[in-house]
Amino acid sequence: MKVLKFGGTSMANADSIRQVGTIIKSDPASRFVVVSAPGKREKADTKVTDLLYACFEKKQKTGACDDALAVVEKRFADIVSDLKIKLDLRGEFDAIRNAINSGASRDYAGSRGEYLSALVCAAFLGLEFIDAALIIKFSSSGKFEAELTNETAAKRLAASKGAVIPGFYGAMPDGSIKTFSRGGSDVTGSIIARAAGVSVYENWTDVDGFMTCDPRIVPDAALIDMLTYKELRELSHMGANILHSDSIFPVRKSDIPIHIRNTFNPGAKGTLIVPTKKYLAGAFFRNTRTVTGIAGRKDFIAIHMEKSMMNSEVGFARKVLSVLEEHNVSIEHMPSGIDTLSVIVDGTAVSDETLASTVSHMGTVCEPDNIEVVRDIALVAVVGHGMNRKKGTAAKVFSALYRAGVNIRMIDQGSSELNIIVGVENKDYETAIKALYEELKEM
Ligand code: ADP
Ligand code: ASP
Ligand code: MG
Repeated sequence: MKVLKFGGTSMANADSIRQVGTIIKSDPASRFVVVSAPGKREKADTKVTDLLYACFEKKQKTGACDDALAVVEKRFADIVSDLKIKLDLRGEFDAIRNAINSGASRDYAGSRGEYLSALVCAAFLGLEFIDAALIIKFSSSGKFEAELTNETAAKRLAASKGAVIPGFYGAMPDGSIKTFSRGGSDVTGSIIARAAGVSVYENWTDVDGFMTCDPRIVPDAALIDMLTYKELRELSHMGANILHSDSIFPVRKSDIPIHIRNTFNPGAKGTLIVPTKKYLAGAFFRNTRTVTGIAGRKDFIAIHMEKSMMNSEVGFARKVLSVLEEHNVSIEHMPSGIDTLSVIVDGTAVSDETLASTVSHMGTVCEPDNIEVVRDIALVAVVGHGMNRKKGTAAKVFSALYRAGVNIRMIDQGSSELNIIVGVENKDYETAIKALYEELKEM
């Protein structure tokens, strides 16, 4: 028995949905289908989720979302008529329009793409529709309730012979809708896979599998046959957004492998994401590489602090961390020297005001000799279990960046030797990824 999740490109238009239908019908093990909202039909197109957020903003600015929502309604009407299914979505759109115009939340608006996409897919496939709001549970403060969800979903799924479930959202105890972060339908797929107790979670997307680098930067990046949950977590958190980094948490509880596959090339073998390096996936999927993959993201901020005798000052790091906690700023990395300590934070997650007040508070509490904020830092991670106790990878990383003329602003290596992370300037990001790929591709 399988759970299959189809991403935005797979749901983008009637042709791709027909292709989804062919994939599901050709595999008798298919049981539960999780879908995203329709994504881009071509490069310049807008995802339905973004159109829906625009509806919410339109209502905020002008008091009504009607014309913005009409664009979404037209997209779905085109899909329904092209698929030639009997499904009248006018009542659904009336309800959505009324809800947004009466003040429904941004999460509610954003979630409707998946809701409608699942209704369409269920009608087209002749399967039951199960609303994620009934089985995916969040607390009243918005925290995902993993165990309650698993119990509720398991019961509901056991009573179904096959169903389509919208990705991306669930509900809080009062019934109001709450979404995961962007790309969160991957997480829903994983929750459904665990609750249904399937043998594999197939995640269908628009590329042949997980590549050693972002194919938009390195078009000839190689396909990774197999990677572990931990490698996935490092790579996807660092920017390989082919799969949401939280997708492993539900499946990890039951050691269910995730198989990434291409809707538009179903014959490709894809990438298998497995619990541990020792997982026996047969000879078909293997990973003998030292470096499994390279990923990165721009727009981090470094707060550098310098203080004489910092190393002998008991509690310095605790003070730094407590200030960050007080301002609700989470840290990505904390590289240090004898008299220096830096914290790296995600610049897209902190506002200028929060950063300014955090830095000033840190100055008063930690009394450093010098405190400096450096913006526009990109982090690049080289990831692979194979690096553990193997000499030479770091040397290759640094010499490749040196030869490419990239200045390294920061270095961090986790104690498990699963990753080497370097901070470079935003402007050097693509150059760094390309140089590392060339240097490490044979490893
Ligand atoms: P979906 O809509 O199916 O969820 P996404 O757009 O979320 O698809 O993820 C697939 C995209 O991820 C690919 O089209 C590719 O551009 C991008 N991507 C980023 N890093 C990688 C990588 N290392 N390997 C493969 N694809 C990657
Ligand atoms: N539709 C949502 C997004 O665009 C969730 C997803 O596609 O996974 O982020
Ligand atoms: Mg995605």
